[in-house]
Amino acid sequence: MKLRIGHLYPDLLNLYGDRGNIQCMMKRCQWRGIEAETVEFALEDSVDFQNLDIVLLGGGSDREQMLVCSKLRSIRESFQSYVEDGGSVLAVCGGYQLLGHYYKTEEGTIEGLSLVDLHTEQGSPRLIDNIVLENSDFSLPIVGFENHGGRTYIGENKPLGRVLYGHGNNGEDGYEGVLYKNVVGTYLHGPLLPKNPHLCDYLLSNALKRKYGIAELSPLDDSQEEAANRYIYERFVKQGTPR
Ligand code: GLN
Repeated sequence: MKLRIGHLYPDLLNLYGDRGNIQCMMKRCQWRGIEAETVEFALEDSVDFQNLDIVLLGGGSDREQMLVCSKLRSIRESFQSYVEDGGSVLAVCGGYQLLGHYYKTEEGTIEGLSLVDLHTEQGSPRLIDNIVLENSDFSLPIVGFENHGGRTYIGENKPLGRVLYGHGNNGEDGYEGVLYKNVVGTYLHGPLLPKNPHLCDYLLSNALKRKYGIAELSPLDDSQEEAANRYIYERFVKQGTPR
C-alpha cells in the first residue's frame, strides 16, 4: 500500500512549521509498513489530484494568501472533484480560510475555493492562545495553538470540535474548525498532528479506505504523543479557566 501526500505551495503556505504535519503522516505510515511519498507543488506547477491521497494546505499571512488565491481559483474544479470524491485534505489556518467562499480583510477580499460552505471576516484583536477541543468521535482531546485575525463562520457544517479552552472559529460560538466529507479545516497550528495522533490516523485511514477499501490501521506505541496531549489538556483545561 502506498499513500501520496500533496503539499500545496509550501513556499507561501507554511507558517509555524505546518510542514511537520507531513512528517508526522509519513512516519505513521512508515512505522506501519505503508509506503508514503510527499510531492511539493510550487505556484507554477500543475496539480494532478488524481494521483494524490492526502492534500495539505498550510497557513499563511494575509499577503501570502492574496498571492496564492488566484492560483487556487485556477485549480478549483479539479480540487473540488477530489474533495467530492472523498479525497483527504488537511487545511490549516490561512489554508482553512481559503477552503471557504472568501476572507474579507481591511486590505480587500481574498476569494476562496468555495470547496466548503464557510466564510471568514477579519476582526480585532487577533485570536492568539493555546487551544483544546473535544469531539466525542475521537479518543483524545485535540490540542494546539491558534493565531488568527479572521473569524470563520461554518454555517450548518460540522465543526472539528467544541472549544474547551481557547477561541476557536470566531471567538463567539464555542466551536473550532470544520469537518466536511474527508476535509479537516482548522485554525490549529503546528505542527498539529504530532500531539494529535488520533487526528493523523483519521486522515490516514480515510485515505486508505478511499484507495484500498481498508480503514483499519495497526496500533502504534503512542505513549509519548499521548503524554504531550495530556500535558496541554491538563495545563489549560484542568488547571486553567474553561470556556
Ligand atoms: N492570515 C490569516 C489570519 O490572520 C491566517 C493566519 C495564519 O495562517 N496564521 O487570520
